[in-house]
This record gives sequence, C-alpha cells and structure tokens, in this order.
Amino acid sequence: MLKIGCHLSASKGYLHMGKEAVALGANTFQFFTRNPRGGNAKPIDEKDTEAFRQYAGEHGIEQILAHAPYTLNGCSADPSIRDFARRTMADDLQRMEYVPGNLYNFHPGSHVGQGMEAGIEQIADMLNSILWADMHTTVLLETMAGKGSEMGSRFEELRAIMDRVTLKNKLGVCMDTCHMADAGYDIVHDLDGVLTAFDKAVGLEHVHAVHINDSKNPLGSHKDRHEQIGLGTLGTEAILRVMEHPALREKLFVLETPNDLPGYAREIAMLKEKWA
Ligand code: FE
Ligand code: FE
Ligand code: ZN
Repeated sequence: MLKIGCHLSASKGYLHMGKEAVALGANTFQFFTRNPRGGNAKPIDEKDTEAFRQYAGEHGIEQILAHAPYTLNGCSADPSIRDFARRTMADDLQRMEYVPGNLYNFHPGSHVGQGMEAGIEQIADMLNSILWADMHTTVLLETMAGKGSEMGSRFEELRAIMDRVTLKNKLGVCMDTCHMADAGYDIVHDLDGVLTAFDKAVGLEHVHAVHINDSKNPLGSHKDRHEQIGLGTLGTEAILRVMEHPALREKLFVLETPNDLPGYAREIAMLKEKWA
C-alpha cells in the first residue's frame, strides 16, 4: 500500500495532525518538532500523544516523520552552536519516545570551511552522544542539495557519517528528490543508475522515507528550491518512477512542496490515482 502524506503544522498537536492528514487523503505526515528556527518545544501533552496513537491505529497511520529544526548545525565551527544542535536533538529524541516507532529526520549540517572530514567526525560524534540502545525512534540523515558547505549531498558523505556511528540500527536515510537532483544525481533520466550508486555507497535498505518534491532549478544547481509536483524540472512522471521503483515503493513518501492544504490534497489525490 502506498504511504503518502505531506508536511503539516504541529502547532495544534499530534491528534490534530493525524486528523488533518486523514482529511487530506494521507496516511502519514511530517512535522517540525519545534519552531524550525530551533526555539523551545512545547511540553509534551500525554493526553494528546495517547489520543493520537489510538487514532493512528484506527486510521491506518503506521508511521510518521518528525523533522528537526533545519537551522541546527552539528558541525558548526562554533562549539556553542554544535552543542545547541546536540542538546536540541537529544531533547527531541526523548520527546519522540511518547510516540514510539517513528522516524526523526535531520539535515547533517554545514562544515562552514572546516572541511568535509572534520564535519563528518563532528556529526558522527554528536550522533554517538545522543543515540541510545533501547530508543524507539530511527534517526534519518537527509540527502542534501549541497548549498554552500552543506554536507550529505554526496551519498559517500552519508556513508562516512554512518560508518562512524556505533548504534547503526538506529540510523537511516531520508531521500529528497529535489535535493538529489540539485546535488547532480539525474533521477529524471537515470533513476536506476542513481539508485545503484546509492545502493553501493549506502545501501537502499537504509532508506526509510523519501521527500517527494519537484525542483525549481536544473540538475546540479545546488539551490534547494522546492516546486509543486509537475511544475518543476523533474516532472510528475519522474517523481512517479521514484515512488513506483521496486526498491522504494514500500517507503514513506512525504510532500514538501510549496502548497496550502487544498494544494496538498490535490497532489496526494493525483499521485494516489497515478501510482501503480
Ligand atoms: Fe529537510
Ligand atoms: Fe526535504
Ligand atoms: Zn529542501
């Protein structure tokens, strides 16, 4: 069965997001764990998390995807910024235990001139300090567009980070179609080639989720500007080939396209209708 949803606002809690997702025709969703700029998180409301777990069970929501604030940088040259990323993610992961069995995605970070090697070490070090053996969340590294000194735009960089993490079974990858194309991976004309490269570098079994976004920019642009499905340089057919690929079709697909809720409902309906 196709697992598809979109990014939703978390401001009214888990149960509200679950109901909103179902109303949009979705069976999963993504949300920011706190203000995307990284402020304080609201206290956990256990009535809400409990009601959500019940509702999810009754409405076919098997798994959801939390997204860390995108301004965190675990490989900043500034130790206080690295520490802030570490503490924020550690706190997010504690909070995720109230909705066990789900996914937590983050942007690896930008090495800001320290070099790729130093960045890889710092991110792995952060992960080794915040993962624990009996946690119930899988932490995902997102494939990035490679803006500036952003890490994780090459599959080998993700592999290098994962290699250095002790609790490997708590780690995975979230692909992003806009980011992969912006990074220079030609998923429109050579999806099999790109997925073979990913499989060699990382292993396709480590992919848990895919952000399905069209891109405003051409292959290899390193821009990271998402577009609505079908209006960008990837196109609906290429995105459907990603969603239908035997290696990916069981994964969680989440739209992060520039849309209001009716727009998301239309994209979800269109993709569900065409998905074979
Ligand atoms: Fe992201
Ligand atoms: Fe994304
Ligand atoms: Zn993006």
